[in-house]
Amino acid sequence: METVEHQGFAARLLEWFDRAGRHDLPWQHPRTPYRVWIAEVMLQQTQVRTVIPYYERFMGRFPDLPELAAAALDEVLSAWSGLGYYSRARNLHRAAIRCMEVHGGELPTEAVALAALPGIGRSTAAAILAQAHGQRLAILDGNVRRVLSRWQAVDGSPLEAAVQRRLWALSEAVLPESRLADYTQAIMDLGATVCVRRVPACARCPLAADCQALAEGAVERYPAAKPRRVRPLKRTRMLLARDALGRLLLEQRQASGIWGGLWSLPERDPEAALAAGGAPGRVLRHEFTHYSLDIELWAVPPAAVAEVEGRWLVPVEALTLGLPQPVRRIVEALQRGEEP
Ligand code: SF4
Repeated sequence: METVEHQGFAARLLEWFDRAGRHDLPWQHPRTPYRVWIAEVMLQQTQVRTVIPYYERFMGRFPDLPELAAAALDEVLSAWSGLGYYSRARNLHRAAIRCMEVHGGELPTEAVALAALPGIGRSTAAAILAQAHGQRLAILDGNVRRVLSRWQAVDGSPLEAAVQRRLWALSEAVLPESRLADYTQAIMDLGATVCVRRVPACARCPLAADCQALAEGAVERYPAAKPRRVRPLKRTRMLLARDALGRLLLEQRQASGIWGGLWSLPERDPEAALAAGGAPGRVLRHEFTHYSLDIELWAVPPAAVAEVEGRWLVPVEALTLGLPQPVRRIVEALQRGEEP
């Protein structure tokens, strides 16, 4: 166990939270395990402000775990559409089904069982159990990692196992004895609103008095930057076919792999498109975590996609489906009457 002189770390954080933290987030009212779970998963890659309207829509459609488990994957992806990182939505759906099958229709209340569900993991499981059940468990998401790395001036990349272990131990060492739900929200809020990545607001931080990074005058040094990777570039071609009614053709992708289960423009070799009078258009760049993708967009006549099994939809209908982000941007341009 990490030994650290934390001089009321949690008490200071809670006092700050009572005064300046966020108390009106939709998943705080009521703070049920299901509602916290959906929020935590949405927040994994996305900021609170962006998440709120998606969250409220999602809750309107899938108000509880059995409703989510009973829904078709397509409906779930559609409700997720625009949030990106669709594996999160697929995992939510799989986890809900698993809870119906083996956990009596509830999220497990035991951390190891909860962390074993698709898309959850140790920190998210702890965040759910601390917030919904007040369990005394530490979290270590990106915000908390940044706060703790700075407060104790923890050297080394957070990707290194030894650094991870130290940060987990630190996160456990500073837990309060009570008010775990508020404390968990407080430390996440501090990272999201005060100890932000660029230019943290140390002047209004409750940890400033003993923050080692601040004392060193080197807050920007922590946490150490991850080593830069050169992202490989991949290429693909998408066919944009429109008929006389202004409808475009979308086909559903296979359930697994990139953009699994989403509706997309057909990706085909353009030979047939060329023969049918198609022409290459703009190249759109899309960034994934591990690579960049250049999409060459081909405008083709309907004859060029005669063999594709898909759906012909006007843009406003297409926008109700789960679409990959670059395809969504193309359809939104069409909807505004612009050429993508
Ligand atoms: S004093 Fe500054 S660097 Fe240290 S924890 Fe607070 S906001 Fe972060």
